[in-house]
Amino acid sequence: MTATTMLKVDAVTRQFGGFKAVDGVSLQLGAGEILGIAGTNGAGKSTLFAAIAGQQPADAGQIHFEGQDITRMPPYRRARLGLVRTFQIPREFKSLTVHENLMAAAANPQGERLLNAFFQTRSLREHEAQLSVKADRILQFLNLARVRDVKAGGLSGGQKKLVELGRVLMLDPRCILLDEPFAGVNPVLIEEICDRVRELNGQGIAFIVIEHHLQALKSLSNRMIVMDRGSILAEGDPHTVLDDPRVQEAYMGG
Ligand code: ADP
Ligand code: MG
Repeated sequence: MTATTMLKVDAVTRQFGGFKAVDGVSLQLGAGEILGIAGTNGAGKSTLFAAIAGQQPADAGQIHFEGQDITRMPPYRRARLGLVRTFQIPREFKSLTVHENLMAAAANPQGERLLNAFFQTRSLREHEAQLSVKADRILQFLNLARVRDVKAGGLSGGQKKLVELGRVLMLDPRCILLDEPFAGVNPVLIEEICDRVRELNGQGIAFIVIEHHLQALKSLSNRMIVMDRGSILAEGDPHTVLDDPRVQEAYMGG
């Protein structure tokens, strides 16, 4: 039995000047899958995410999400289809509370929700109230309810990573790209983030996870890819891919 392909990346290239940060990368993600991506610093992992999510559109190649060509779609439209990403460096609004950060993530790109409440129609206010309940449900799920009204700038590194996840969950995603969710996170919270990812995956959300923390990535992923200098170096079962001599060599700086 083969899983339905959710995301299909074909020969995607992204260059900066003459330098190919991502050089002809192809991959597929099945519905319900968790794919891990490892690779040394500068391998092009975050740039690949930016090409898939749309912040740095591909210069060449195609990206299909659930059968639709999204190669040149702006990020907010990809998000509407259910394809979202988090960032390596959390992008929280520091002076907004945790709850407000989740609410802001659900605001539409025209910023209509920022209109003075006085002018809002009743249905818009009701919609806002529903979003607030949804944000609280997500905060509960992520074990962040006790910091609901704390300014996000004062959170620990791990809590900020959870807020990042909470922000994308506001968008009802079908596929989440996580960029280094364990970086700067203590081991207890790493386990907690892994548990939440597994739970969301159990609800049918597919994941691609970039991570340097190979132990945690191995245990989380169904399949793994290792990138090096813009290309895919090895791909396969997490427990064998890291033993690949080419991977070992890349990690040893050979
Ligand atoms: P990784 O996430 O695997 O560490 P990145 O995708 O962040 O790697 O970067 C890959 C390469 O592309 C690096 O050499 C980096 O310096 C370069 N790069 C990334 N973003 C830009 C940019 N906006 N402008 C110029 N070069 C960039
Ligand atoms: Mg990166």
